[in-house]
Amino acid sequence: ILQDDGASNGVDRELRAPICCILGHVDAGKTKLLDCIRQSNVQGGEAGGITQQIGATYLPVENIRERTSLKAEATIKVPGLLVIDTPGHQSFSNMRLRGSSLCDIAVVVVDITRGLEKQTIESIDLLKHRNVRFIVALNKVDRLYGWKTCPHAPIAKALKNQSEDVQSEFKWRVTEVVTQLKESGFNAALYYENKKMKEVVNIVPTSAVSAEGIPDLLLLLVRWVPEIMMERLTYVNNMECTVLEVNEDKDFGTTIDVVLINGALHKGDRIVVCTKQGPVTTNIRYLLTPYPMKELKAKGVYKHHEELKAAQGVKIAVRGLRHAIAGTALIVVKPGDDLERAEAAAVQEISNANSLINED
Ligand code: GDP
Repeated sequence: ILQDDGASNGVDRELRAPICCILGHVDAGKTKLLDCIRQSNVQGGEAGGITQQIGATYLPVENIRERTSLKAEATIKVPGLLVIDTPGHQSFSNMRLRGSSLCDIAVVVVDITRGLEKQTIESIDLLKHRNVRFIVALNKVDRLYGWKTCPHAPIAKALKNQSEDVQSEFKWRVTEVVTQLKESGFNAALYYENKKMKEVVNIVPTSAVSAEGIPDLLLLLVRWVPEIMMERLTYVNNMECTVLEVNEDKDFGTTIDVVLINGALHKGDRIVVCTKQGPVTTNIRYLLTPYPMKELKAKGVYKHHEELKAAQGVKIAVRGLRHAIAGTALIVVKPGDDLERAEAAAVQEISNANSLINED
């Protein structure tokens, strides 16, 4: 249980990185937006500090500060942002199983020129059902007729740059989307006009091509999200971890890719994972993450770790988990823990997963 000695305003809390996923209708720009988030705006430079992880991308706050020209004194309480690489990812349907526990926040991408579409509505229904909060990225603003692009600009600056005609078309399109969201049961507003951020869904206009509005989106994710879910993002020692997929690696044998949501994992940890043949107890042989781009020349593809702290995408080399079930939890058994209880919890995971499959 979390010791909260009067620090309920979060000053002394250690927060973990929020985990974000990107959803939306096909062609709305999910992949492009993810690419854009991954890129640095430093011309020709490296995407400073960004690491492509297992099934995810990690953006440290330093990188976000650099890209958002945030004042030095402005605080960011989280160490970074973990964006799940869901678009087009094969394990997407499995990850949806635990959508509510895997992602802290979703970005629903909507094409401003098309408004809400079938899969947009499906996505928000799913999020509502799983109790996941979301931000709407009203994407492709650069496609509005007559739009003058202002690469990497915050949206207020980009809008100021537009003719009256463009501005009024923009307003009209926003109103349209707000009305459509209302029909889907959500009150929504442009985030900079949103006076009730706790109840009303934030809309951020973006362009995944010119990166306009991307600073705004990043800031909402690392500053506003921690404000509204301080408790959820508080780092705890209770490990929470979800299996994304199982692979056979030529060097490491069976590996499982996981998202470490909270707590820490250690090399050698005894773990229980659900498999198609029931719960399997085994040890973490290696704890791995890919090398950042600039270190790729280093030996091997993966960096070895003794300990990793949430939130991160991690590859674990293990024996006996060839038939592990994606979307279920990985449970750590500490010395003195009741193994039977851990295995029972793993069995429970399998039935949870099954009931969710049936629900979908
Ligand atoms: P997804 O199916 O949602 O992943 O959509 P993609 O990211 O593949 O984008 C679909 C198409 O729209 C591609 O041709 C992108 O280049 C284009 N696109 C995506 N975002 C933008 C944007 O903000 N502006 C413009 N002009 N094109 C975009």
